[in-house]
Amino acid sequence: MRINFLGTCSGTEPMPGRHHTSITVEVGDRMFWFDAGEGCGHTAHVMGLDLAATEAVFISHTHMDHIGGLPHLIWTLRKLAGRVEGFGARLGGRQIPLYIPRPEVFDAVNTLLANGKGLSPAFTITARPCQDGWLYEQDGVRVRALHNLHLGPDEPFRSFSYRLEADGRGIVFSGDVKSVADFEPLIDPCDVLMMETGHHRVEEVCEYLRGSGHRFGQLVFVHHGRAILADPAGELAKARSVLGNKVHIAADRQSVMI
Ligand SMILES: [Zn+2]
Ligand SMILES: [Zn+2]
Repeated sequence: MRINFLGTCSGTEPMPGRHHTSITVEVGDRMFWFDAGEGCGHTAHVMGLDLAATEAVFISHTHMDHIGGLPHLIWTLRKLAGRVEGFGARLGGRQIPLYIPRPEVFDAVNTLLANGKGLSPAFTITARPCQDGWLYEQDGVRVRALHNLHLGPDEPFRSFSYRLEADGRGIVFSGDVKSVADFEPLIDPCDVLMMETGHHRVEEVCEYLRGSGHRFGQLVFVHHGRAILADPAGELAKARSVLGNKVHIAADRQSVMI
């Protein structure tokens, strides 16, 4: 399995060298997307990732720093299918599920996309609502969703955290959360825990996790807040003083094998 960090920034003003949140997980010849922040399709393509491997897309919530790149990602798939020999054939008329907490937002994306050439016959994208439990299970890969409190108690089913399992491994993506407690049921055990810092201090997250007894292999910070954006080395040192070398700060266009 390989994790690709396309964008690692939270919803700040534009930051040099950083784009908003998007991560893909490759399992064999299939690629799963988690959030689709600005430019994610472009970044994935220039990193050399195979967009024709796109199997499913999971959106944590519909804030712009998690979904701003979705129209362009779909447009890019359509463009590659029309321009790159064999790309459309490899998509093979695939139905790509888009799990999204507010499916009506996809209507707006479709309206925008219809403004161009229309959809490609090489693939279709179907919006599906998120709910707690296993959303996707196919050929040895499964993805579970759990609602969180990022948008407050009045809208608990508008924001989700995710867990992917494949090849005997588990990967957890917090999305945006009120606290680690929101998505604790997804954690144990996992190989990689991806936690956002746009709303949290790294040392508090590390201390909470140390005290909680949760079993995770590596902790990777994503969706960086201002402290990491200003001083990644200093924040990493703080985090490692609590949890040691199992903590990492993801950078844009970084890939890791697990
Ligand atoms: Zn965010
Ligand atoms: Zn958000």
